[in-house]
Amino acid sequence: MSNRHKTSEKYSGFEQGPIRPPSEAYSLLIRVTRNCPWNRCTFCPVYKGSRFSIRPVEHVKKDIDAVHRSVEMLRQMADESGRILRTELRKTAENNEQLDPQAFNAAMNWFSGGMSSVFIQDANSLIIKPDHLVEILIHLKNLFPWVERITSYARSHTIARIKDDNLKAIREAGLNRIHIGLESGSDQVLKMIKKGVTKQTQIKAGLKVIKAGMELSEYVMPGLGGKQLSKTHALETADALNQINPDFIRLRTLAIPNNVELYDDYEAGNFEKCTDLMIAKEVQLLIESLDGITSVFKSDHILNLFENLEGTLPRDKDRMLEIIRTFLEMSPERQCVYQVGRRLGFFSRLSDMESPHRLNKAEKTCKELGITPENVDEVIDELMKRFI
Ligand code: SF4
Repeated sequence: MSNRHKTSEKYSGFEQGPIRPPSEAYSLLIRVTRNCPWNRCTFCPVYKGSRFSIRPVEHVKKDIDAVHRSVEMLRQMADESGRILRTELRKTAENNEQLDPQAFNAAMNWFSGGMSSVFIQDANSLIIKPDHLVEILIHLKNLFPWVERITSYARSHTIARIKDDNLKAIREAGLNRIHIGLESGSDQVLKMIKKGVTKQTQIKAGLKVIKAGMELSEYVMPGLGGKQLSKTHALETADALNQINPDFIRLRTLAIPNNVELYDDYEAGNFEKCTDLMIAKEVQLLIESLDGITSVFKSDHILNLFENLEGTLPRDKDRMLEIIRTFLEMSPERQCVYQVGRRLGFFSRLSDMESPHRLNKAEKTCKELGITPENVDEVIDELMKRFI
């Protein structure tokens, strides 16, 4: 161990953080930091009450080594028999003291998912020293040279402060996609939800990521401006995205759990939540205002109203807008059935209402629970909390 990595913290085995983007479901999760160094966004419940810390580089490398040992064993087993039974796997794990059980589990999931991508955790991995991140990435690439994609979450505020040369070195060491929680391009909204960053810094950070040769995924949060700032939120966010032209724009609709500051604002009457209908109109305005960019638009989160609101800009813009228009033109009763069916998993897109079986299930639920266009948004609020 080199002196600069000396630490008093004892290694206590392979670690994994609580979340990853939906698109990283098959990725190996490698935890470089714990929790979020900012931790003040008023809508975010993820790391509240947990202290931020940076894991020693040597510990992260030990995690990677532990996964590597497990992967080697899995590959050997697969080579000998052609397939691996889970029961056999568990027995192997129990009888091999060399294996870290958590790392073995992670390796099994990764192995069955094809081992093509790695996600660096937790909320803002780029906050560590660039040369430490480079060292970790090089170690990863050395042990798993076949990996095609290594990605991480990062805050715009952090990226904006990293030197271009350092970002480039991080890219060259293997990090090739960054997920940023842009949430909004409106300074008013960003201030209200304590994002700790301005529209200008968000744009600067996005452009820096692209300049460094990494793919950029920007998360947008419909509903975050509430009723009052809904229009500004849509227009300013579109303007920021038009200036960045990220590779991906991903929607994740606002839901407010009881344990966040925004819930207190809402209870106190300082934040008025948008209804599903308002959010549909907000997203319509956002998409209408996206101009001159070539991003892939994704709706890969269970909280979103339409799972198929996806496409490549500008080619699929009209098709995406048509989905929202169709919903907005439906009768309030039919909109209500769709909203409930979507939140209960009967529907993921409007065309699912053409299935008599699914439609019947959603209509029956509305009838049995007394859900009407008048009370549907209250019911939806409760259902959405299940998915946060
Ligand atoms: S920066 Fe991200 S993880 Fe941290 S509090 Fe804000 S939304 Fe949550």
